[in-house]
Amino acid sequence: MHIQEKQIQAINTQIRNLVRAGSFYGKKLEAAGITRIETEEDFLKLPFSEKADLREAYPLGLMTAPEEEIVRIHSSSGTTGLPVIIPYTAKDVDDWAVMFKRCYEMAGITNRDRIQITPGYGLWTAGIGFQNGAEKLGAMVIPMGPGNTDKQIQMMIDLKSTVLCATSSYALLLAEEIERRGLKDRICLKKGVIGSERWGARMRARIQEILGIELYDIYGLTEIYGPGIGINCPQETGIHYWDDYIYIEIIDPVTGAPVPDGEPGEIVITTLVKEGAPLIRYRTHDLSRILPEPCACGSPYPRLDVISGRTDDMLKIKGVNVFPAQIEEVLAGFEGLGSEYQIRISHLDGKDTMRIYAEADGHYEFRVLAQDVAAAVKSRIGFTPVVNIVEIGMLPRSEKKTKRVIDERYD
Ligand code: ZN
Repeated sequence: MHIQEKQIQAINTQIRNLVRAGSFYGKKLEAAGITRIETEEDFLKLPFSEKADLREAYPLGLMTAPEEEIVRIHSSSGTTGLPVIIPYTAKDVDDWAVMFKRCYEMAGITNRDRIQITPGYGLWTAGIGFQNGAEKLGAMVIPMGPGNTDKQIQMMIDLKSTVLCATSSYALLLAEEIERRGLKDRICLKKGVIGSERWGARMRARIQEILGIELYDIYGLTEIYGPGIGINCPQETGIHYWDDYIYIEIIDPVTGAPVPDGEPGEIVITTLVKEGAPLIRYRTHDLSRILPEPCACGSPYPRLDVISGRTDDMLKIKGVNVFPAQIEEVLAGFEGLGSEYQIRISHLDGKDTMRIYAEADGHYEFRVLAQDVAAAVKSRIGFTPVVNIVEIGMLPRSEKKTKRVIDERYD
């Protein structure tokens, strides 16, 4: 996706503000001797930024607008070390709501909808992002936040919620609970807007099958506004993203070189109009590709393919690089399996072992299914795992993100 002239001009404004504010990236640019770009070639010489850089700027080193213009901060939960603090101006907050409104509109959601929001409110960007966009749209918001499944279902029935916003894990948990309690006929849901974790086609199909709703995947990350920078359209062919707010390039995660449109690689994002904390060439570690063909829906916004995983998901087992998405794809090829699985890696008697747990219903011979899955995984990644098939519902469900890969080698 070539950079447009107006995007170059927007980036120059971002660079000017970063340098003027003496923010971490402004200093990095000055050190690299690049404070203005004219061409795509110039752009590609700009240094990348990384989550580690953002952590180093803790607490407020990213702040690029004057203090009196900052109205809010958000923070991404670091699993290690310091969190990242992102300051927002009033315009940033509004721009984010405009993008999120576009996401709802792309999904065909209107001001006649009632939107039940289950992601969390607080330091992270989830709940409040869904809320601001919905209010911008003029829809009725039911701001539940996470958990309390009984209350969620009661509100869903009594207030006739038409849209559910949730993580895929929580959408599945709610769907299975609604099915178990026999309440499907009493809910009015038509659509689900699902964010914040990668999920497989099978999990999607299961939620769709139980609730009978259309599902939309929302994309985004705290460092770049939050969820809402892109969403799939009803054609379900990738994610449209808002190229008047962000510029996306795809790079080879190892060499950092740009890859041609259509080729897979790491998503790198540059903000075009952000004030509180602009980011230039931010490495997301999310893996996808640009879909260069125009979409059948007619939208002029460019498209990314569904996120296929993260560069840091990669596991090294018996000297082989394995992505959990590869295992998920193999499992998705088996008719009898459910959506849930768990991968456990341990180190026993001097060698790595991979155990895969997957759910199936009682119509299948578990022992035979396990053998077939083990053989299919071997032909995909080169070594044989231990496969255990369990009854549907045996593996853990989560209100937030389901942990599917457990590496016990370093415990
Ligand atoms: Zn489309």
